[in-house]
Order: sequence, then structure tokens, then C-alpha cells
Amino acid sequence: MARIGFIGLGNMGLPMAQNLIKAGHSVVGLDVTSAQVDKFVAAGGTAAATVKEVASASDVVVTMLPAGAQVRDIYLGKGGVIASANAGTLLIDSSTVDVETARAVSAAAAGRGLAMLDAPVSGGVGGAQAGTLTFMVGGDAAAFEQAKPVLEKMGKTIVHAGGPGNGQAAKICNNMILGVSMIAVSEAFVLAEKLGLDAQKLFDISSKSSGQCWSMTSYCPVPGLVPASPANRDYEAGFTAAMMLKDLKLAQDAAKASGAATPLGADAATLYQRYVDSGEAGRDFSGIIAQVRRDK
Ligand code: NAD
Repeated sequence: MARIGFIGLGNMGLPMAQNLIKAGHSVVGLDVTSAQVDKFVAAGGTAAATVKEVASASDVVVTMLPAGAQVRDIYLGKGGVIASANAGTLLIDSSTVDVETARAVSAAAAGRGLAMLDAPVSGGVGGAQAGTLTFMVGGDAAAFEQAKPVLEKMGKTIVHAGGPGNGQAAKICNNMILGVSMIAVSEAFVLAEKLGLDAQKLFDISSKSSGQCWSMTSYCPVPGLVPASPANRDYEAGFTAAMMLKDLKLAQDAAKASGAATPLGADAATLYQRYVDSGEAGRDFSGIIAQVRRDK
């Protein structure tokens, strides 16, 4: 069984690391938040004090960090993962970061002869706990095959999206669809309300018609229509509006850098920014329907 190092034991990282432990791996972990480390140790993990300690004791290093800045720091810094890993160690970053950071870190790893994958996820905290995450993986095919048995302990759908950075590209494209479709569904229900069309009636019709989409039938922003929706729990996250905004901004940065036209993606980022600025950063992203209602 591969020895695994895990850096970033937050809402996602902790349950992912727990699933690796449950599967029989020995896992050495690190986080700057001591409460998270305590939970990791209680689950059978071994706490490390430095990045170097994690990297030098592991066959595979997995990171699950907030954003690109932390990923660059942990991988590229003095005493970082790339400087400290032994030859043959496989590096997997599952954080959601910009494509440029993913490619820069991967190139630095290659410079030391280390294989690296960007492997962001979808499925949220529930998927991390259940071990049913989707992994979108960028990097070379041999490294992907090597990583698969480890990723399968944490996820159900593991897709090789192409070379370095393509996992991140898939993630931000998917989440741009999600952000835009959640707003579209919200606008439709608010319009229906104003036209005197009952929400249940619109749901019954659209969920079986061409307007059907995940934002409507799995995560409906109107309470009372889909039992598992955060709308039924006062929009308790779930996937926060702040995280959606982060991903929509990454998509906008990538669109600008690559010359792609994404006007609806840009509007979605603006709307989520307004929602977050109204004090709702921690609310589930489907709460955007409140912003749609407020806008005149
Ligand atoms: P989180 O903030 O709960 O976890 C990040 C952890 O990293 C924290 O525990 C923090 O203390 C730790 N950390 C930060 N800097 C560190 C450092 N220098 N060294 C060691 N530890 C450090 O965030 P999360 O919800 O677990 O998300 C992690 C990543 O997964 C993000 O990139 C996010 O966009 C992505 N993601 C999250 C979800 C979700 O639903 N939460 C879904 C898909 C993807």
C-alpha cells in the first residue's frame, strides 16, 4: 500500500484523507489549523510538522488547498513539496486553482523528474465524505494510471482530461455552466412568480422539458420542490457562493487569457460578486435566487 502525504485537511481534504486511511493507506498529514489536524489524528492519521516531513515520507502526495497562492507556496517554496520529495514520488493537486498555476507547478515538478497531476474535484463535502467525488485529471497518461488506485479510494468517476492544467480547465468550464444555469433557473422561477405561474407547475413542466438541467432537478433554488436542495435548509451550504464566485473568476481570467468570449459567464461572475458583497459569502450558491429577486 502506498504511503500517502496529505496537505490541506479542510472541509474537503479531511474526509478525503479519512477515506484513504479507511482503505488501509498510512497517511501523514499537515494543516495550519490545529483543530483539523486533531480530527485527522483521531481518524488514524499521523501529524507532520513541516511540508518537508510530509513529502520525504510519502510515495504519493495529495494537496487540497484553498487557492493558487497556497499551491505555489506549498509546492515551489524552499522546503516545499518539489524540493523535498524523493525520486519517484507522485504529486497530485486536487485544489481548484487557475490553469496557469497548475501548469507552472507541473513544469517545476517535471524539472526535478517528478510526475505531477492536477486533479480537481466536483461533488462537494458530501461526495468527499461518501468517497464518490468526480476527479478531472490533467497530466501524462502514465502518471494518471499510477494515480488511479489512489483516486478511486476517494472518488467514483475518474476522468483523464489531457495534459497538465486540463483538469483545472475542465473544472472551471463545468462550474461556469453550473453558475450560469443556477442563475437561469432562478430567473425563470422569479419570472413565473410574477406571471402568476405556480412554482410546482413550472417544475413539473420544465423538469420534463427542454429547460431541464441539474440546477433545476437536483438542486432547485426554490424550496419545497427537490427534497435534497439547500433551499429547504435556508440555503445552508453545500457549495458556498464565495466558492462559486472564485470559480467564475478563474473562468473569466482563463477566458481573457485565451481570447474566448464568455458574456454569460462574465454576467454570472458580476451577479455572484453582488450576492457575496451583500454579506452572503457563506450561503449556498443556490441562494442567488434572493439576489435575482432583489434586482429590479
Ligand atoms: P477549506 O478552506 O475548508 O480547506 C483548506 C485547508 O487548507 C484549511 O484547513 C486550511 O487550514 C489549509 N491550509 C491553508 N493554507 C495552508 C498551508 N499553507 N499549509 C497547510 N494547510 C493549509 O477548503 P475546502 O472546502 O476543503 O476546499 C479546498 C479546495 O477544494 C479549494 O480549492 C476549493 O475550491 C475546492 N473545492 C471545494 C468544494 C467544496 O464544496 N467545499 C468542492 C469542490 C472543490
